[in-house]
Amino acid sequence: MKTADLIIENGLVLQYDRSSSSGISSIAVKDGRILDIDLPDRIKSNYNADSYLSAIDKIVMPGFVNTHSHVSMTYFRGLADDLPLMEWLNDHIWPAESKHLSAEFVYDAALHGCAEMIKNGITTFNDMYFYCGEVAKAAKKIGIRAILSEGVLDFPVAQYQNSQEIIDYTIKQHDKFKHDELVQIAFGPHAIYTCGTDTLQKITKLAVARDMLVHTHLSETKTELEDSLKKHKLRPAEYLDSIGFFDNKVIVAHAIWLDEKEQSLLAEKNVAVAINTSSNLKLASGFAPIKGYMDKGVTVSLGTDGVASNNNLSMLEEMSYTAKIHKLLNEDPTVLPAEDMVKMATIEGAKALRMDNEIGSLKQGKKADIILLNTRDLNVQPMYNPYSHLTYAFSSEQISDVLIDGKIIMQDRKLVTIDEDELFNKAEYYRNKIRENK
Ligand SMILES: [Zn+2]
Repeated sequence: MKTADLIIENGLVLQYDRSSSSGISSIAVKDGRILDIDLPDRIKSNYNADSYLSAIDKIVMPGFVNTHSHVSMTYFRGLADDLPLMEWLNDHIWPAESKHLSAEFVYDAALHGCAEMIKNGITTFNDMYFYCGEVAKAAKKIGIRAILSEGVLDFPVAQYQNSQEIIDYTIKQHDKFKHDELVQIAFGPHAIYTCGTDTLQKITKLAVARDMLVHTHLSETKTELEDSLKKHKLRPAEYLDSIGFFDNKVIVAHAIWLDEKEQSLLAEKNVAVAINTSSNLKLASGFAPIKGYMDKGVTVSLGTDGVASNNNLSMLEEMSYTAKIHKLLNEDPTVLPAEDMVKMATIEGAKALRMDNEIGSLKQGKKADIILLNTRDLNVQPMYNPYSHLTYAFSSEQISDVLIDGKIIMQDRKLVTIDEDELFNKAEYYRNKIRENK
């Protein structure tokens, strides 16, 4: 008899390398990792555990990997909607940020945002904002895995006078979290229209030397494309390639206005893409050429973007919208089948963040980042195929339990690591404060 810390018993376990009808299994977890996955009887006869979690009537699957977010924008949710991107940023979001941003604000907002991610089954998120040291504190308090970057811009922003100060801060944070179990620091050059060539090249050099991920926004709007053609005589991805930016571990968010040549360039340079369908729809930014990316072998993952532009953090909603919209755009209902969407939200996200050795699927030896979904719910009965239901029928309300690093972070939809009432009180406090100053 071997010992485990926890056994998740009798669930419908989704293992991508087996057939989708692999049946009911149990999972033994030890030291934050998956020790074994096998038939319930075998796990029962081979392992003793300190605690047990019943997964009867539940789907057991890897947690969602959200590859593009601004988690600290929680308190700007619903502040301004139904506007074009630049007007929304210039007249609403940036003024509100310049009035309210502080370390304390970011910590409180990130705490709420991380808790909200858990409620949506997200176990890893890739974030860009300011005061990432505060976001790290919040992520660690909740117990969620995070890749954090400080947005680099070439003008005074947040607590910074210039981009060099932001780069210095990033390096300091990278040193601080180098060996952290949950938090990783990445470089976050905001976009080609907010960072000059010098800044982008400086970041490239540092990222290569330190083996850091680089997270940026690319071709979110048609204006960005037109400006790049005017300024650089090159399309945005061609310009980034011309300055050596892609000779690195890069993930680009949005990636909407890329032509065939740019799509092939991303494949060739192993640049991963984070698709943000809800945000792109709401800001009418356009549609990323997902089928083109997949045909060319680009790693495609899903992000929620911030709740100021989405306005929620549901990965299940991103999966459903993305699949349906791209079937329509391609006039082909076979495009983006359900199983591909589940993988896009999990293992492909892990690949995009270069973490697929550790997370993104349920496999012996991988981190125990696991979510459970309740199937005893009229909304998802009967169930023939879990992948179909995950993409087209489930909502976040049916996500019952979340484990990260083998620790239970949510059980029966109750957060374990934080008091929800505190979050409600803070949300009301900041709503009043922001409203007064508007
Ligand atoms: Zn963004």
